[in-house]
Amino acid sequence: MFRSRGSKTATTEEAPREVALSEDEWRSRLTPEQYRVLRKAGTEPAFSGKYLECHLDGTYCCAGCGARLFSSDAKFDSGSGWPSFAEPTLASAVELHRDRSFGMERTEVLCRSCGSHLGHVFDDGPRPTGQRYCINSLSLRIDTGQS
Ligand SMILES: [Zn+2]
Repeated sequence: MFRSRGSKTATTEEAPREVALSEDEWRSRLTPEQYRVLRKAGTEPAFSGKYLECHLDGTYCCAGCGARLFSSDAKFDSGSGWPSFAEPTLASAVELHRDRSFGMERTEVLCRSCGSHLGHVFDDGPRPTGQRYCINSLSLRIDTGQS
């Protein structure tokens, strides 16, 4: 199930999008702050996100398309200033891209169904996955199962 510890996170191929919107449609669907993060690969300021201290039970969904991405069970306090998860609900829910921006080598995490930027994944998470999905609160919307 899990990759062996110490292995580098593999990047995945770009898939056809289930949700494909025009830039205008994205702008009308998202707040300006969400648009900057989700569609322009921005990062919210550390310790600013509304889900950083969130301890509700539920599923964190993509703020762009509603795809179910991370379970609250996988959330942990990494001290990084962003919501952190040990793994996605399904490996196929996210897409990983190598990101060499800002002179760093990182792995970008995108929503597979709509291609929105979520955050980055690092290999310094807790066992057993060893992974830390460092995700912007602005990219997420929690579904607690109550309407
Ligand atoms: Zn999405």
